[in-house]
Amino acid sequence: MDRKDLANLIFPDAKPVEYYEEKYKVRDLPEGALVTRYAPSPTGFNHIGGVMQAMISQTIAKQTGGVSIVRIEDTDQKREVENAAEQIMENLRDFDLLPDESIWTPEKTYGPYRQSERKELYQAFAKSLIEKGLAYPCFCTPEDLDKIRTNQEAAKERTGYYGKWTKCRNMPIDMAYEKIKNGDPYIIRFRSNGNPDRKIKHKDVIKGNIDMPENDQDVVIIKSDGLPTFHFAHAIDDHFMGVNLVNRSDEWIPSVPLHLQLFYTLGFKAPKYAHTAPMMKLDGDSRRKLSKRKDPEANAAYYWEIGIPKESVKEYLMNIANSNFEIWRRQNPDIPMEEFPFDLKKMGVAGALFDMVKLLDVSKNTISRFTAEKVYNEAYEWAKRYDEELVEMLDNKEYALKVLGIERGNEKPRKDIAKWSDLKENIAYMYDEEFDKIKNNL
Ligand code: GLU
Repeated sequence: MDRKDLANLIFPDAKPVEYYEEKYKVRDLPEGALVTRYAPSPTGFNHIGGVMQAMISQTIAKQTGGVSIVRIEDTDQKREVENAAEQIMENLRDFDLLPDESIWTPEKTYGPYRQSERKELYQAFAKSLIEKGLAYPCFCTPEDLDKIRTNQEAAKERTGYYGKWTKCRNMPIDMAYEKIKNGDPYIIRFRSNGNPDRKIKHKDVIKGNIDMPENDQDVVIIKSDGLPTFHFAHAIDDHFMGVNLVNRSDEWIPSVPLHLQLFYTLGFKAPKYAHTAPMMKLDGDSRRKLSKRKDPEANAAYYWEIGIPKESVKEYLMNIANSNFEIWRRQNPDIPMEEFPFDLKKMGVAGALFDMVKLLDVSKNTISRFTAEKVYNEAYEWAKRYDEELVEMLDNKEYALKVLGIERGNEKPRKDIAKWSDLKENIAYMYDEEFDKIKNNL
């Protein structure tokens, strides 16, 4: 009995890894092209920080002649919320942020773009690692793991599955083989050869040089349901999707040593990482993260509900992403924001403050540059869902266009509308009785 037999017993149908190297060809892209991805887990609504990630990923891909991807990371099926993936996609569409490749482009060659549909790919690599002695089945029960933790805490040692605490790491192959044949439950762990006394050097595009101890945890790579953990899956996906720049939340920085180790062990070139700080909010005198639970403005769908146009939200997000955007915008009031030379290196290391007042201010400027026709169409669409009275006011399109066209399209346009939910109040004076005559005579 050897490691190959064990690997075959666990994954009898897995294809050789070479099959996938052949299937997912290296992308043919110009020099310097960046392939980026936004990789949300479908665990709830899209956070406005997610919209910013998606926008940054796409801007970088577009500006370098690369490709943008949205990958749905749904391997933790216990946390999955029904329909969340579709809602995330719809939300991106509402912001005009659909990427080049996603679950909505099933015909593209680097898919599927939902991790749960890529199970066989991850298993092929888990099998190959088992054959090489770089992964192993672990039979520890939750009780075993609790016991290990209690002992570690009592001994004042780091918690986790590493070093002398790895009960199953050196289990004889015959024994593991028998246990699996007997139907004992197991998961697959990565066999780490990292040494925390040594440091890995990570050069983050945004945060600069960060040295961290090597990873020595034998992390789970395949769970008992046969699906991979996020760590394992993302390395394989980023490799086969040709991703060479990962911009993601800085909560993942502590995982970088493990991620680099996984790329290296799998024989892949690691992408560059650009870790972005979370959006913050002023709460009294202190700052805290913009929270999905506490702040309605954390929900990306909220802006549509209160009628802030997507252009305004994106302009504002670009403002917090790159501080020089504001000056650029002042110098180039009429150029589409997509032409702004975005620079990851100019992103703040600390989290930017999300400020609704500023957003509304940006929105006033953005809307002031819209044509009357655009204001009309967007406000009308919004009103149909949220405000019947406004629909009535806008029903007479000719008159409404006149009202909305006042001081618009000139050098110094009026800047009084920040959101469609303000519009009724803003134009009400034009609908007072004294104007009825004008209206009726139109
Ligand atoms: N699926 C992870 C998340 O939602 C993304 C991590 C990554 O971008 O690498 O946080």
